[in-house]
Amino acid sequence: MLSLGIEGTAHTVGVGIVDESCRVLANVSATVRPETGGIHPREAANHHAERVVPLVQEAAAKAGVRLADVDVVAFSQGPGLGPCLRTVATAARALALALGKPLVGVNHCVAHLEIGRGRCGCDDPVLLYASGGNTQIIAYAAGRYRVFGETLDIGIGNMLDKFGREVGMPFPAGPLIEKEAKGGRELLALPYSVKGMDVAFSGLLTAALQLHRQGARMEDLCFSIQETAFAMLTEATERAMAHIDNDQVLLGGGVVRNQRLRSMVGRMAEDRGARMFVPEGELCVDNGAMIAWTGLLQFKSGHRPAIEETLIDQRYRTDAVQVTWR
Ligand code: AMP
Ligand code: MG
Repeated sequence: MLSLGIEGTAHTVGVGIVDESCRVLANVSATVRPETGGIHPREAANHHAERVVPLVQEAAAKAGVRLADVDVVAFSQGPGLGPCLRTVATAARALALALGKPLVGVNHCVAHLEIGRGRCGCDDPVLLYASGGNTQIIAYAAGRYRVFGETLDIGIGNMLDKFGREVGMPFPAGPLIEKEAKGGRELLALPYSVKGMDVAFSGLLTAALQLHRQGARMEDLCFSIQETAFAMLTEATERAMAHIDNDQVLLGGGVVRNQRLRSMVGRMAEDRGARMFVPEGELCVDNGAMIAWTGLLQFKSGHRPAIEETLIDQRYRTDAVQVTWR
Protein backbone atom coordinates (compact mmCIF):
# COMPACT_ATOMS: atom_id res chain seq x y z
CA MET A 1 0.00 0.00 0.00
CA LEU A 2 1.33 3.44 -0.96
CA SER A 3 0.44 6.81 0.50
CA LEU A 4 1.20 10.20 -1.00
CA GLY A 5 1.22 13.12 1.41
CA ILE A 6 1.24 16.84 0.74
CA GLU A 7 2.51 19.22 3.41
CA GLY A 8 1.82 22.95 3.25
CA THR A 9 1.14 24.55 6.62
CA ALA A 10 3.67 27.38 6.40
CA HIS A 11 6.75 28.23 4.34
CA THR A 12 7.37 24.72 3.00
CA VAL A 13 5.36 22.78 0.44
CA GLY A 14 6.41 19.14 0.35
CA VAL A 15 5.34 15.88 -1.24
CA GLY A 16 6.27 12.49 0.16
CA ILE A 17 5.47 8.91 -0.77
CA VAL A 18 5.76 6.13 1.81
CA ASP A 19 4.86 2.46 1.96
CA GLU A 20 3.30 0.39 4.73
CA SER A 21 6.60 -0.26 6.47
CA CYS A 22 7.34 3.47 6.65
CA ARG A 23 9.93 3.32 3.91
CA VAL A 24 10.28 6.81 2.49
CA LEU A 25 10.27 6.33 -1.29
CA ALA A 26 10.33 10.05 -2.03
CA ASN A 27 10.31 13.26 -0.03
CA VAL A 28 10.70 16.47 -2.01
CA SER A 29 9.97 20.04 -1.04
CA ALA A 30 10.32 23.74 -1.79
CA THR A 31 10.53 26.53 0.76
CA VAL A 32 9.76 30.24 0.47
CA ARG A 33 12.62 32.40 1.67
CA PRO A 34 11.50 36.01 2.02
CA GLU A 35 14.40 38.42 1.46
CA THR A 36 13.09 40.83 4.04
CA GLY A 37 10.56 40.43 6.83
CA GLY A 38 8.67 37.31 7.78
CA ILE A 39 6.52 34.95 5.75
CA HIS A 40 3.62 36.57 3.98
CA PRO A 41 0.80 33.97 4.01
CA ARG A 42 -0.55 34.86 0.56
CA GLU A 43 2.87 34.97 -1.05
CA ALA A 44 3.68 31.61 0.49
CA ALA A 45 0.38 30.24 -0.81
CA ASN A 46 1.17 31.47 -4.33
CA HIS A 47 4.56 29.82 -4.08
CA HIS A 48 2.93 26.53 -3.01
CA ALA A 49 0.39 26.75 -5.83
CA GLU A 50 3.19 27.08 -8.37
CA ARG A 51 5.29 24.30 -6.95
CA VAL A 52 2.86 21.64 -5.80
CA VAL A 53 2.10 19.97 -9.16
CA PRO A 54 5.76 19.67 -10.24
CA LEU A 55 6.60 18.34 -6.77
CA VAL A 56 3.91 15.64 -7.05
CA GLN A 57 5.40 14.58 -10.39
CA GLU A 58 8.93 14.72 -9.03
CA ALA A 59 7.96 12.59 -6.03
CA ALA A 60 6.38 9.93 -8.22
CA ALA A 61 9.44 9.85 -10.49
CA LYS A 62 11.84 9.61 -7.52
CA ALA A 63 9.78 6.85 -5.93
CA GLY A 64 9.61 5.03 -9.25
CA VAL A 65 5.84 4.67 -9.01
CA ARG A 66 2.92 5.76 -11.13
CA LEU A 67 0.45 8.10 -9.46
CA ALA A 68 -2.23 5.55 -10.28
CA ASP A 69 -0.46 3.13 -7.89
CA VAL A 70 -0.99 5.44 -4.92
CA ASP A 71 -3.67 4.06 -2.57
CA VAL A 72 -4.38 7.11 -0.44
CA VAL A 73 -3.78 10.86 -0.71
CA ALA A 74 -3.07 12.70 2.56
CA PHE A 75 -2.64 16.40 3.20
CA SER A 76 -1.84 18.73 6.08
CA GLN A 77 -5.21 19.91 7.37
CA GLY A 78 -3.79 22.24 10.04
CA PRO A 79 -2.64 24.01 12.11
CA GLY A 80 -1.05 26.61 9.90
CA LEU A 81 -1.50 29.64 7.70
CA GLY A 82 -4.95 29.75 6.11
CA PRO A 83 -3.98 30.57 2.51
CA CYS A 84 -1.24 27.91 2.50
CA LEU A 85 -3.54 25.26 3.96
CA ARG A 86 -6.27 26.07 1.45
CA THR A 87 -3.90 25.84 -1.50
CA VAL A 88 -2.57 22.46 -0.47
CA ALA A 89 -6.02 21.10 0.44
CA THR A 90 -7.26 22.08 -3.00
CA ALA A 91 -4.32 20.36 -4.67
CA ALA A 92 -4.84 17.22 -2.58
CA ARG A 93 -8.58 17.11 -3.33
CA ALA A 94 -7.95 17.54 -7.04
CA LEU A 95 -5.34 14.78 -7.03
CA ALA A 96 -7.52 12.37 -5.03
CA LEU A 97 -10.47 13.04 -7.35
CA ALA A 98 -8.41 12.63 -10.49
CA LEU A 99 -6.95 9.35 -9.24
CA GLY A 100 -10.22 8.15 -7.73
CA LYS A 101 -8.43 7.58 -4.41
CA PRO A 102 -9.44 8.36 -0.82
CA LEU A 103 -8.40 11.64 0.77
CA VAL A 104 -7.30 11.93 4.40
CA GLY A 105 -6.59 15.13 6.36
CA VAL A 106 -3.69 15.00 8.81
CA ASN A 107 -2.81 17.09 11.85
CA HIS A 108 0.66 18.53 11.25
CA CYS A 109 1.87 18.22 14.85
CA VAL A 110 0.71 14.63 15.14
CA ALA A 111 2.57 13.89 11.90
CA HIS A 112 5.86 15.09 13.43
CA LEU A 113 5.34 12.57 16.21
CA GLU A 114 4.21 9.68 14.01
CA ILE A 115 7.11 9.91 11.58
CA GLY A 116 9.46 9.68 14.56
CA ARG A 117 7.66 6.59 15.82
CA GLY A 118 7.71 5.10 12.35
CA ARG A 119 11.37 5.79 11.61
CA CYS A 120 13.26 5.90 14.91
CA GLY A 121 12.11 2.78 16.71
CA CYS A 122 10.58 4.61 19.65
CA ASP A 123 7.09 3.31 20.38
CA ASP A 124 5.73 5.78 22.91
CA PRO A 125 7.82 8.95 23.03
CA VAL A 126 7.33 12.37 24.51
CA LEU A 127 7.76 14.68 21.52
CA LEU A 128 9.51 18.00 21.90
CA TYR A 129 8.23 19.77 18.82
CA ALA A 130 10.19 22.98 18.35
CA SER A 131 9.64 24.76 15.07
CA GLY A 132 9.05 28.22 13.69
CA GLY A 133 5.37 28.58 14.49
CA ASN A 134 4.88 25.72 16.94
CA THR A 135 6.38 24.78 20.27
CA GLN A 136 4.67 21.88 22.01
CA ILE A 137 5.45 18.96 24.26
CA ILE A 138 3.19 16.11 23.23
CA ALA A 139 2.62 12.57 24.45
CA TYR A 140 0.01 9.87 24.05
CA ALA A 141 -2.50 9.16 26.77
CA ALA A 142 -5.91 7.48 26.58
CA GLY A 143 -6.66 7.75 22.88
CA ARG A 144 -5.25 11.19 22.16
CA TYR A 145 -2.02 13.02 21.79
CA ARG A 146 -2.09 15.34 24.78
CA VAL A 147 -0.32 18.67 24.83
CA PHE A 148 1.57 18.61 28.11
CA GLY A 149 3.15 21.97 27.56
CA GLU A 150 3.37 24.60 24.88
CA THR A 151 4.37 28.16 24.22
CA LEU A 152 1.98 30.72 25.59
CA ASP A 153 3.01 33.29 23.00
CA ILE A 154 5.34 32.80 20.01
CA GLY A 155 7.04 29.65 18.72
CA ILE A 156 10.72 29.30 19.60
CA GLY A 157 11.85 29.47 15.96
CA ASN A 158 9.75 32.59 15.53
CA MET A 159 11.55 34.13 18.50
CA LEU A 160 14.95 33.30 17.01
CA ASP A 161 13.95 34.61 13.57
CA LYS A 162 12.47 37.83 14.99
CA PHE A 163 15.62 38.48 16.99
CA GLY A 164 17.70 37.82 13.89
CA ARG A 165 15.59 40.13 11.77
CA GLU A 166 15.96 43.00 14.24
CA VAL A 167 19.74 42.62 14.41
CA GLY A 168 20.18 42.28 10.65
CA MET A 169 20.46 38.53 10.08
CA PRO A 170 18.80 36.96 7.04
CA PHE A 171 15.92 34.49 7.43
CA PRO A 172 16.07 31.90 8.91
CA ALA A 173 18.21 33.20 11.75
CA GLY A 174 18.31 30.00 13.82
CA PRO A 175 21.44 28.54 12.20
CA LEU A 176 23.28 31.90 12.35
CA ILE A 177 22.42 32.35 16.01
CA GLU A 178 23.80 28.86 16.62
CA LYS A 179 27.06 29.84 14.90
CA GLU A 180 27.40 33.12 16.81
CA ALA A 181 26.63 31.39 20.10
CA LYS A 182 29.81 29.32 19.76
CA GLY A 183 31.79 32.49 20.50
CA GLY A 184 29.79 33.30 23.64
CA ARG A 185 31.79 33.93 26.81
CA GLU A 186 29.30 35.44 29.19
CA LEU A 187 25.78 34.31 30.14
CA LEU A 188 23.63 37.44 30.15
CA ALA A 189 20.52 37.50 32.33
CA LEU A 190 17.37 36.96 30.27
CA PRO A 191 13.83 36.16 31.45
CA TYR A 192 13.39 32.44 32.03
CA SER A 193 9.68 31.74 31.81
CA VAL A 194 8.42 28.28 32.49
CA LYS A 195 4.87 28.30 33.83
CA GLY A 196 3.91 24.81 34.87
CA MET A 197 4.79 22.91 31.74
CA ASP A 198 4.24 25.88 29.45
CA VAL A 199 6.89 28.28 28.20
CA ALA A 200 6.90 31.85 26.91
CA PHE A 201 9.44 33.59 24.71
CA SER A 202 8.29 37.13 24.00
CA GLY A 203 9.74 38.55 27.23
CA LEU A 204 13.08 36.96 26.42
CA LEU A 205 12.97 38.45 22.92
CA THR A 206 12.25 41.95 24.21
CA ALA A 207 15.03 41.73 26.80
CA ALA A 208 17.55 40.39 24.27
CA LEU A 209 16.78 43.23 21.85
CA GLN A 210 17.18 45.73 24.66
CA LEU A 211 20.60 44.30 25.55
CA HIS A 212 21.50 44.51 21.87
CA ARG A 213 20.64 48.21 21.79
CA GLN A 214 22.77 48.66 24.91
CA GLY A 215 25.73 47.23 23.01
CA ALA A 216 25.97 43.65 24.29
CA ARG A 217 28.32 41.39 22.29
CA MET A 218 26.43 39.49 19.61
CA GLU A 219 28.14 36.21 20.50
CA ASP A 220 27.16 36.57 24.17
CA LEU A 221 23.61 37.49 23.22
CA CYS A 222 23.15 34.51 20.93
CA PHE A 223 24.76 32.21 23.49
CA SER A 224 22.49 33.53 26.25
CA ILE A 225 19.34 33.28 24.13
CA GLN A 226 20.12 29.66 23.34
CA GLU A 227 21.08 28.68 26.88
CA THR A 228 17.98 30.28 28.36
CA ALA A 229 15.37 29.27 25.78
CA PHE A 230 16.66 25.72 25.37
CA ALA A 231 16.88 25.21 29.14
CA MET A 232 13.21 26.20 29.32
CA LEU A 233 12.30 23.60 26.70
CA THR A 234 14.43 20.95 28.36
CA GLU A 235 12.89 21.60 31.77
CA ALA A 236 9.33 21.44 30.48
CA THR A 237 10.10 18.27 28.51
CA GLU A 238 11.66 16.62 31.53
CA ARG A 239 8.65 17.50 33.65
CA ALA A 240 6.32 15.85 31.13
CA MET A 241 8.52 12.74 31.06
CA ALA A 242 8.59 12.56 34.85
CA HIS A 243 4.85 13.11 35.05
CA ILE A 244 3.97 10.13 32.86
CA ASP A 245 7.04 8.09 33.76
CA ASN A 246 8.24 7.99 30.17
CA ASP A 247 11.76 7.10 29.07
CA GLN A 248 11.76 8.12 25.40
CA VAL A 249 12.11 11.65 24.13
CA LEU A 250 11.67 12.39 20.43
CA LEU A 251 12.72 15.62 18.75
CA GLY A 252 10.88 17.29 15.88
CA GLY A 253 10.69 20.66 14.12
CA GLY A 254 13.34 22.81 12.46
CA VAL A 255 14.85 24.14 15.69
CA VAL A 256 15.97 20.66 16.74
CA ARG A 257 18.63 20.87 14.08
CA ASN A 258 20.42 22.92 16.70
CA GLN A 259 23.27 20.91 18.23
CA ARG A 260 23.14 22.74 21.56
CA LEU A 261 19.44 21.95 21.99
CA ARG A 262 20.15 18.32 21.14
CA SER A 263 22.96 18.09 23.63
CA MET A 264 20.87 19.64 26.42
CA VAL A 265 17.91 17.32 25.85
CA GLY A 266 20.29 14.38 25.35
CA ARG A 267 21.99 15.11 28.66
CA MET A 268 18.64 15.38 30.44
CA ALA A 269 17.56 12.03 28.94
CA GLU A 270 20.82 10.38 29.96
CA ASP A 271 20.48 11.67 33.52
CA ARG A 272 17.01 10.12 33.71
CA GLY A 273 18.04 6.81 32.17
CA ALA A 274 15.96 7.68 29.11
CA ARG A 275 16.76 7.71 25.39
CA MET A 276 16.62 10.54 22.88
CA PHE A 277 15.51 9.95 19.29
CA VAL A 278 16.12 12.34 16.41
CA PRO A 279 14.66 11.64 12.95
CA GLU A 280 16.85 12.20 9.87
CA GLY A 281 17.15 15.92 9.07
CA GLU A 282 14.67 15.98 6.21
CA LEU A 283 12.08 14.25 8.40
CA CYS A 284 12.59 16.69 11.32
CA VAL A 285 11.51 19.70 9.29
CA ASP A 286 8.14 20.12 7.60
CA ASN A 287 7.85 17.42 4.96
CA GLY A 288 5.37 15.44 2.89
CA ALA A 289 6.55 12.00 4.04
CA MET A 290 5.31 12.54 7.60
CA ILE A 291 1.90 13.54 6.24
CA ALA A 292 1.84 10.51 3.94
CA TRP A 293 2.78 8.17 6.79
CA THR A 294 0.25 9.55 9.28
CA GLY A 295 -2.44 9.54 6.58
CA LEU A 296 -1.65 5.89 5.90
CA LEU A 297 -1.99 5.01 9.61
CA GLN A 298 -5.32 6.82 9.76
CA PHE A 299 -6.57 5.17 6.58
CA LYS A 300 -5.58 1.68 7.72
CA SER A 301 -7.40 2.21 11.00
CA GLY A 302 -10.61 2.92 9.11
CA HIS A 303 -10.47 6.68 8.67
CA ARG A 304 -12.75 7.55 5.71
CA PRO A 305 -13.57 11.25 6.03
CA ALA A 306 -16.43 12.72 4.04
CA ILE A 307 -15.40 15.67 1.87
CA GLU A 308 -16.86 18.15 4.39
CA GLU A 309 -14.59 16.65 7.05
CA THR A 310 -11.56 17.62 4.99
CA LEU A 311 -11.98 21.36 5.54
CA ILE A 312 -8.81 23.00 6.71
CA ASP A 313 -8.44 24.17 10.30
CA GLN A 314 -5.91 26.92 10.99
CA ARG A 315 -6.09 26.16 14.70
CA TYR A 316 -6.32 22.39 14.49
CA ARG A 317 -5.43 21.25 17.99
CA THR A 318 -3.17 18.25 18.53
CA ASP A 319 -5.56 16.87 21.14
CA ALA A 320 -8.59 17.20 18.87
CA VAL A 321 -7.38 14.18 16.88
CA GLN A 322 -8.86 10.85 17.85
CA VAL A 323 -5.95 8.42 17.64
CA THR A 324 -7.62 5.32 16.22
CA TRP A 325 -4.40 3.65 15.09
CA ARG A 326 -2.78 3.02 18.48
P1 AMP B 1 10.15 24.62 10.78
O1 AMP B 1 9.15 25.69 11.20
O2 AMP B 1 9.96 23.35 11.55
O3 AMP B 1 10.23 24.42 9.31
O4 AMP B 1 11.60 25.17 11.22
C1 AMP B 1 12.06 26.42 10.85
C2 AMP B 1 12.67 27.09 12.06
O5 AMP B 1 13.83 26.37 12.49
C3 AMP B 1 13.12 28.51 11.77
O6 AMP B 1 12.58 29.33 12.78
C4 AMP B 1 14.64 28.44 11.88
O7 AMP B 1 15.24 29.62 12.37
C5 AMP B 1 14.83 27.29 12.85
N1 AMP B 1 16.14 26.64 12.74
C6 AMP B 1 16.67 26.01 11.68
N2 AMP B 1 17.93 25.58 11.94
C7 AMP B 1 18.20 25.97 13.21
C8 AMP B 1 19.33 25.84 14.08
N3 AMP B 1 20.45 25.24 13.68
N4 AMP B 1 19.24 26.36 15.31
C9 AMP B 1 18.11 26.97 15.73
N5 AMP B 1 17.01 27.12 14.96
C10 AMP B 1 17.05 26.62 13.72
MG1 MG C 1 6.38 21.63 11.50
